[in-house]
Amino acid sequence: MSRAPGHPALAPFGTTIFSEMSALAREHGAINLGQGFPDTDGPQEILDAARQAIADGRNQYPPFPGDPALLEAIAAHQARFYGLGIDPRDQILVTVGATEAIAVAMLAMVQPGDEVVTFEPYYDSYAATIALAGGVRRTSALRFPDFALDGESLRAAFSERTRLVLLNTPHNPTGKVFTLEELTLICDLAKEFDAWVVTDEVYEHLVFDGREHIPVASLPGMAERTLTISSAGKTFSTTGWKVGWVSGPAEAISALRAVKQFVSFSASGPFQPAVAVGLGLGDEVYASLASGLESKRDLLVEGLRSAGLRVAVPAGTYFVVADASPLGGADGLAFARSLPARAGVACVPVSVFCDDVDSARSLVRFAFCKEDDVLREGVARLSALAGA
Ligand code: PMP
Ligand code: GLN
Repeated sequence: MSRAPGHPALAPFGTTIFSEMSALAREHGAINLGQGFPDTDGPQEILDAARQAIADGRNQYPPFPGDPALLEAIAAHQARFYGLGIDPRDQILVTVGATEAIAVAMLAMVQPGDEVVTFEPYYDSYAATIALAGGVRRTSALRFPDFALDGESLRAAFSERTRLVLLNTPHNPTGKVFTLEELTLICDLAKEFDAWVVTDEVYEHLVFDGREHIPVASLPGMAERTLTISSAGKTFSTTGWKVGWVSGPAEAISALRAVKQFVSFSASGPFQPAVAVGLGLGDEVYASLASGLESKRDLLVEGLRSAGLRVAVPAGTYFVVADASPLGGADGLAFARSLPARAGVACVPVSVFCDDVDSARSLVRFAFCKEDDVLREGVARLSALAGA
């Protein structure tokens, strides 16, 4: 018998928690506050633009680095919001969601034995794609409830083998927005160890309470060593379109293009010009996307508190992390697996995103990118569980 199929580096990973929890939600007809996707559509203009693109026959392969209109729109977006100058011809690559951008960045930048510094809890594809590239993950922990950066453990994660830092701000699953001081420390270490920074900023427009998103590439001396990833999925509530992108120095983008051309070549043909329309929408559209989500955050945070849970109030993203202990969730993974059947609600355990599982044992993540009535019903079900 020949060797069993399967990449050995992926052996520890199994099925992603998002698929597992969404499948349980479907099986039990539960309210799905697990996997992060909105239950309403984004701006009408981009939905119309996608329909129009199909009607106009934009249904064949776009150029693999990206539809020229989208490349221009991404460059214009980075200039408009952050004052960054990016050449659409050789400093951007459009990808199949941010997920592909992360994967091609790891495959292009990381060689076997290279170390990648990241923060835990980490987005699950980080660990898997670092492993696929043969890299070694080194983490610094963000701990509940404030998830502040721990400078000592961060410095300890760096070594002469550090190839890059894989950062995520605003941060999934914690909802943390890294402060300027924290980002400056990370950037100083990256420079000291001559490391790249790959920064996943998919929630760049979903920040609350008047905060400003700080792109790593905008910090002094960082544009030349930073790859910035984003996606239309979160900003425009179009997670199924899978349009993402990565921008940065031309030599690095060229290395990523070399990988991507053999992974997917191109995708999402008619959605690319539609996302270009979205990126050009007025400031008021962006502001209302964030403020709408902010009030949903408040609704869910208050609801979880009234159900007896201690929560970390998120500064951005779709997510809020809570300590499930008062609802019998000392083991958050077991709690999340049982919740759809017990209470008709799905969430995601945080410990699966951690190497130090004990640091997040009782934590679970709830998504608030849902209609208000859905959130209220979810909270009512959790409160009933608390009273049972
Ligand atoms: N990075 C983070 C931090 C995410 O939360 C997600 C999920 N949206 C992704 C990347 C993947 O984005 P996409 O759906 O565009 O592939
Ligand atoms: N980013 C989404 C989340 O954190 C999930 C995306 C996925 O299912 N791969 O919930």
